[in-house]
Amino acid sequence: MASEKRTVLPDNPTEIIEIGKKEKHKNAISKRLVAIVVAVMFILAVSSSLAIYFFTLNAILKEKELELAAISYLTASNIDEKIPGDYALLGDSSLRLYKGETDITNMSGLITETSSLLKVEISLIYSDTRILTTITDGDGKLITGIGLAPQIVSALNTSSGGVFFEDTLINSNKYFSYYYPLYNSDGSYAGAIECCSSYNSIMPTIRNNMIIFNLITVIATVILLLLISHFNQSLNKSVGKLLNFTQDAASGNDSALLDASLLRRKDEFGTIAGAVLEMHRSMRDMMDKDPLTKLYNRRSANRKLDIIMSHYASNGSSYSIAIGDIDFFKKVNDTYGHDAGDAVLQAVASILQENMKKNGFAARWGGEEFLLAFDKTDLDTAVVLLENILDEIRALTIDYEGREIKVTMSIGVASNPELSKDEIINEADARLYYSKENGRNRITAVLPE
Ligand code: GH3
Ligand code: MG
Ligand code: MG
Repeated sequence: MASEKRTVLPDNPTEIIEIGKKEKHKNAISKRLVAIVVAVMFILAVSSSLAIYFFTLNAILKEKELELAAISYLTASNIDEKIPGDYALLGDSSLRLYKGETDITNMSGLITETSSLLKVEISLIYSDTRILTTITDGDGKLITGIGLAPQIVSALNTSSGGVFFEDTLINSNKYFSYYYPLYNSDGSYAGAIECCSSYNSIMPTIRNNMIIFNLITVIATVILLLLISHFNQSLNKSVGKLLNFTQDAASGNDSALLDASLLRRKDEFGTIAGAVLEMHRSMRDMMDKDPLTKLYNRRSANRKLDIIMSHYASNGSSYSIAIGDIDFFKKVNDTYGHDAGDAVLQAVASILQENMKKNGFAARWGGEEFLLAFDKTDLDTAVVLLENILDEIRALTIDYEGREIKVTMSIGVASNPELSKDEIINEADARLYYSKENGRNRITAVLPE
């Protein structure tokens, strides 16, 4: 019996399961998803940081230009208002800068007030030299007397108005600087008001913007990863369930169970699970059922008999086995054709199927031969049930292309739990033979002595 039970599974099911379960899935979907998110967020963070750096810088430059232009214009107007007249360098040994009648060489007050108020460096330039300035060198000394870079001088000379520079190097420090030209009353170029703002002063603003943005990116990445991890868990659960079922089914387990929650899913998993289940069902049907009558075939009937017999082994419940054979079936084929014979087989099978649903099962045992297995049914009860079935077959009329076909069946039934499966089937077969020999269209449950 133990060796027969093995037919439930194919030859090497454990091997197949092992192959399936050993897979560690180096390229698991969930891992790839996390890698993609991290990569995308990294690219986003780097490109956005660069974009923010340049956009902020650009915006600040525009603002600075306007601001410095306004301050240098106001400084020039302020000086003109306080001290009218043209600029001129006078004297022999040490040259002095005059505006009109006033020596302004040491009048630093003309620029310091605005400078400290508006936090910018201001210089008054005569020709190309700083005469007054608020810029100091490393030792804290004012850099008066220091000339302008040649490109600034040439830009001032060629431009009709003020000029702005984004990176002016003064005393090794980087500045944004604006130069507002000064003219004498005859229209000649006298010099310029230089207004500078340290380049470093704007860096904290840019840095803060970038820090805030990167912080947002990090938080968004963490939230995204949490969401993905949650999504992954549900994904992994479903994949695991699907994998278990397919591996179980692939290993040949006919009663492999698919978790119902998977079928309820409204996404692709639900669809795949439904399709896999359907595939398993139709493959099982293909393997287990006879295509013409849809009854169990001989192979699966043998397996199902093992299960019924195991019920007897475990709780002593009796069972009966009958074999029925359609009488003179060859004549049906010969008279009405093979297709008509098929229709008869289907009609008879459907009666058997319907009657056996509650009592056990019906199988197509051979051509026009059927096996009926009665679970938890003794011989007398089986005979009563068989009488019913035979009555229904007798009453059956198959209407085939306008012609009416009627058939009967001969049946042999046995019930002896002490016998092996083959022995009890042989006993039912012998009783069927007796029915055939004694007029057909009858049931034999006991052979006369
Ligand atoms: P008996 O009463 O002694 O059983 O006579 P019988 O004619 O029924 O028995 P026999 O064994 O002489 O003939 C069985 C016939 O069943 C022969 C075979 O061609 C036919 N048969 C077997 N399988 C099928 C099938 O799937 N379809 C059809 N149409 N005929 C089938
Ligand atoms: Mg027959
Ligand atoms: Mg036969």
